[in-house]
Amino acid sequence: MDFSLSDEERAVRDTARTFITREVMPLEQEALRRERAHLPGLERSELRELQLKAKKFGFWGLSTPEQYGGMDLPAVVQSLIWTEVGRTFVQFKFGGEADNILFHANDEQKAEYLVPTIEGDRISCFAITEPGAGSDAANIKLSARRDGDDWILNGEKTFITNGNDADFVIVVAVTDREKGVRGGGTTAFLVDREMGWRSEFIQTMGEGGPASLIFENVRVPARNILGEIGQGFELGMKWIGKGRYLIPSAAVGIAERALGMAIEYANTRETFGTTIGTNQAIQWMIADSEVELEAARLLILRAAWIVDQGDDPRHASSMAKLYGAGMVNNVVDRVMQIHGGMGYTRELPIERWYRQVRLMRIYEGTDEMQRLIISRDLLRGYTKIGGHLA
Ligand SMILES: Cc1cc2nc3c(=O)[nH]c(=O)nc-3n(C[C@H](O)[C@H](O)[C@H](O)COP(=O)(O)OP(=O)(O)OC[C@H]3O[C@@H](n4cnc5c(N)ncnc54)[C@H](O)[C@@H]3O)c2cc1C
Repeated sequence: MDFSLSDEERAVRDTARTFITREVMPLEQEALRRERAHLPGLERSELRELQLKAKKFGFWGLSTPEQYGGMDLPAVVQSLIWTEVGRTFVQFKFGGEADNILFHANDEQKAEYLVPTIEGDRISCFAITEPGAGSDAANIKLSARRDGDDWILNGEKTFITNGNDADFVIVVAVTDREKGVRGGGTTAFLVDREMGWRSEFIQTMGEGGPASLIFENVRVPARNILGEIGQGFELGMKWIGKGRYLIPSAAVGIAERALGMAIEYANTRETFGTTIGTNQAIQWMIADSEVELEAARLLILRAAWIVDQGDDPRHASSMAKLYGAGMVNNVVDRVMQIHGGMGYTRELPIERWYRQVRLMRIYEGTDEMQRLIISRDLLRGYTKIGGHLA
């Protein structure tokens, strides 16, 4: 068994690390200052500029196929890069990407939605959650009714990331109530903001914030159906599936950085005439954090590796998401504890991470939903204890 990275994986990871360290981390203090003044940490134009700089560095479209100018990197390498990006709390992401399900678009839609999203000229958002349907996504109600060559959409989506900034939404709607959501009764639509939906900002404990999207008789031409009629729920689950190993990949980066700060603080902060790191209570917090971090790293890389094998990654991704999200919450909590009162202040980014990582246990499938998936797979015999090593 070989746990090492290949030369190529290491080279890409190190180049990403260099970019984040040199070009993004220097913006952190200004980003914190702005966020504390309730402004975006990074303006859209600044993000774009950074992304173009990264493009010159060689990073553009990590998951985007080469025919669209992307790098089409294996999932393992993408995971390694997301970990590097996670190390900074500037809300940066590499450019040249689009929602994975936009690749199901037809040629005309690709020109209108996919390519401009990859280029950064258009902003998308993805909407399945509703006020009455989150974990129970199969209970969505937003309806699409056929009217001649058009469809009329009515209903509400909520907690939609980028919902305030997006100029179009990929929305999953019920098109055939009889068939039910799991029986082919839903369809995904590409809906421009100009077609008539509106968004309402939702304040959260994190920076930025999602939005509710309101559809009142929004008329959408049939040519804006993404994929096939009846394929909506399937596409929605595909969209969510990707985040299940990438979100915890970022969590590893956050945990690494925060733990590094805690170690430095433990070695310098003195109480009772000695550094706090000489106390077993502090040492154990550091040890537990390191163990959990490494366990999460391996679960996440294994999930990504399963993606690269072309196997079904759902079970492994659920374990990675559940454990990775829990790990980063534990680590950031301990890091705050090690920093004492300073950890709680806004002088340091720890309280920001504390607020940010809490979301990881909730969105794209709560902890409880991951547990439900993992246990169901075992109880029904879909997977074996021990996975591919069993
Ligand atoms: C900041 C943010 C961004 C988001 N971005 C998006 C987005 O871009 N697009 C999108 O579509 N959605 C998005 N979401 C929605 C997110 O995916 C949902 O909030 C999440 O799936 C949980 O759904 P819910 O909030 O309705 O909670 P509920 O489903 O109501 O659950 C409430 C609690 O009950 C638990 N629970 C529910 N059912 C069970 C069960 N059977 N067994 C045990 N426990 C159960 C849950 O785990 C949770 O703890 C976002 C949410 C947030 C907060």
